[in-house]
Parts: sequence; C-alpha cells; structure tokens
Amino acid sequence: MSKHSLPKAAPFDPVSAPDFLPPSQLRELQLARLQDMVAHAFHHVAPFRSRMSERGLEPGDIQSLDDITRLPFCDKADLRDGYPFGLFATPMSEIVRLHASTGTTGKPIVVAYTRQDVEVWTNVMCRSLVACGLHRGDIVQNAYGYGLFTGGLGAHYGAEALGATVIPISGGNTQRQIMVLKDFKVTAICCTPSYFLHIIDQAAELGVNLKDLPLRAGVFGAEPWTESMRQRIQQDSGIKAYDIYGLSEIVGPGVAMECLCQAGPHIFEDFFYPEVIDSATGKPCAEGVEGELVLTTLSKHAMPMIRYRTRDITALTSEPCACGRTLRRIKRISRRSDDMIIIRGVNLYPSQIETALLKVEGALPHYQIVLTREKGLDEMEVQVEVTQDVFSDTVGGLEQLQARLTKSIETTTGLRPRVRLVQPRSIQRSEGKAKRVIDQRKM
Ligand SMILES: [Zn+2]
Repeated sequence: MSKHSLPKAAPFDPVSAPDFLPPSQLRELQLARLQDMVAHAFHHVAPFRSRMSERGLEPGDIQSLDDITRLPFCDKADLRDGYPFGLFATPMSEIVRLHASTGTTGKPIVVAYTRQDVEVWTNVMCRSLVACGLHRGDIVQNAYGYGLFTGGLGAHYGAEALGATVIPISGGNTQRQIMVLKDFKVTAICCTPSYFLHIIDQAAELGVNLKDLPLRAGVFGAEPWTESMRQRIQQDSGIKAYDIYGLSEIVGPGVAMECLCQAGPHIFEDFFYPEVIDSATGKPCAEGVEGELVLTTLSKHAMPMIRYRTRDITALTSEPCACGRTLRRIKRISRRSDDMIIIRGVNLYPSQIETALLKVEGALPHYQIVLTREKGLDEMEVQVEVTQDVFSDTVGGLEQLQARLTKSIETTTGLRPRVRLVQPRSIQRSEGKAKRVIDQRKM
C-alpha cells in the first residue's frame, strides 16, 4: 500500500459532519449565529456599538445574511487602537487564553478566547486535519512555534482532539526535527512552507531521503505561497502539501483548509462568514472575482470580529468539490495587499517572483528581493540560490541561467530585475515566516 492511498476507515470523522451540511441548512445556521454575534458585540464592545449607532443600526436590523453588508468594517488599526483589551466582549474571568501577534512595528495585537472559543478553535483545527486525510494513529510533528503565536497551540489542540499522536517540537533546531521525523516515524508535519523547504535541504545534506520516510502530509500555512512552490515541495519530498489558512485576529489557523483534492481551502463557514470585496470601494465582488477577503466570526465570544478586513487577496467559489464538502472554497492566498511593493510605479507581489523563478530549472525556491534607489530610480535585485551543480558550472552556464531567470521575471512582472545567483544556503533561513523583501529605498 502506498503512503498516499486512502485509509480503510471512514473518509471523515463524525466531527466533520458540519462540512457536509446542505447549503440551505448552513445558511440558516449562519444567519442565526450572525444575529447573536452582532447583538453580543453591540452590547459589549463600545467601539462597535458607536459605529452601529452612527449608521442608525441596531442588532434587530440584521434580518438576512445579505444585511451583513450594512455593518461597518473593522481592521488591524481597530485592534491596535484597542490595545490591549479594548475589544474584549467578556470579563477577564471568562477568558482562559490570550495570544498576541508579533508585530514588527509598534504594539502587538492581542486576541482572547473563552473556554468555548478554544473548543471551537480545536473543532475547526481537528476538521482541518481530517480534511487532508489525517486520523487517529497518525504521528504529527508540530513545528509551528508554540507561544504567543497561534500556530503551535492551534495545531496541537486540533491534532490531539483528532486522537493523533502529537509531537510538540515547535520551530527551530532543524537537525533535531529531521532526527524526530525519521526516528519517531512521523506521518504528518505542520509548519510554514518555507521552513519545510529548509528541512528538505538539511535532510539532503544529512543524507536522509524524505521519500523513504513514512511522512506523507504537510499542513502548511502562516505565510503566502504559490502553486509552483507546492509542486516543488511535493516533488522534492514525496509528501502531499496542503494549504491551511487562518489568522490570529479571527481565531488562528483553522479558518479554512484544503481537502485531499487540493483545490483551494474550504472555509469552515459554520463559524466564519466570508465575503470578498473590492478593496477600493468596499463593495462585494461577484463569485470568482478576486478581491480582499473579509471575515466575520459567527461564534467568538471573547473577541467577536465583525467584517474584519484581512488584506488577503482571494476569490470565493461555491462550485462543488469532489470531496463532497458543501463549504465554499477560497482560491489559494498567494498575496496580501500588505505585501504589495511598488517599483517604478508597477505593483508587484513577491509571489510573482516565486512563480517566475520556479519555472526555471537550476534555481532553488530560496530567494530574496532587495530594493534600492539609485539616482532617484528604483532598482530591484533578485537574489536566487542555485543548486551546487549549477554553481560549480562554467561562467557561461551561470550567465545563461541568469539570463533565463531575468527573462522569466520580466515576462511575469513586466519589470527587468538584476538577478544575482548565490550559493546554496547563503540566503538566511527562517524558522517561521520567510522574509522575502528587503526594502532599502529611502522614502
Ligand atoms: Zn473538497
């Protein structure tokens, strides 16, 4: 039996029953929960109440799911303004957990959970793992960071609820990660896709062939990544790579997760109501049209988020999925409006560079974009690691590769970069989210 054939047991755990609700029943449930959530936030979160009042709105005005568009948006700035506890809707005596984002500038964002909120989070994380074929008996290496970051504990609780065996190794110490993968007969790993790439490299260096291990699935998230990156990971490691989506402001990981079809994450809509809007106008986008993802928590008690603007760019689809889940799916999120860089007036996302690089043989998926300004003109240098074989090649061979990469990036982005080929492992590795852009332009 190949490690990718389906388990003989039921294809899903009973915990996943809500994934398969008839859409009409799901909408009914969403409306009831939305009404409760709006009332709860109105009565307990002062900034929300005053925005509702400015619009002359009361909780009773939400009569249908479409009425959600009448509600005010909220965003990261509201969380910063409310630092640390200003948006909490329950007294501290009901809050059993706090997490915080590691903001690069200023104060972090603090999020809170009641016992029931933790249960919901555990439920959606458990359903996430079921969706990609994990079950009791699986051995899960959880290399997401434990701590204030939501990744570690989120995946941990979900995997335990599933009945899988969890190894709470957290991020870092890559040699130990590889030893554990091998010696503990790990079947699934949770981490960022860029960290797994690092594991792939180090394993090769240590003479460990990941393809020989029982490892069959990766639950990858916490940073944007592309389809080409997925192909590369799967090719090089022999595992299946699944995209999990989430953000601390809403709950942490487990807002949406791919099923075995790998056709874009299904949103756990019974707890999170999705909208996609035009970032500029705030108006809803038609199905399938890309825009900014807006999420509303339908059950979060400690800190309800209503129409939270995620800055993640995606499109929503209700097309049936072969897995039978009725939950709508989002297109894989490979870019965030926050990540957009503007070079000589052209909008660019790091993921476009990633796609362009991975089309060219000999380039490794480790890259960094360095922006400088010379004589008032923006310059983009893309540093790309190449394989050792290529690096030891003749000067002519290197120049050819450089030209191919430059062309590929120019075709994809419309910008002509300076491409610098660098030795394998010379770009700094991250144990969490990869840092793709170094902007040295003086504004
Ligand atoms: Zn599916």
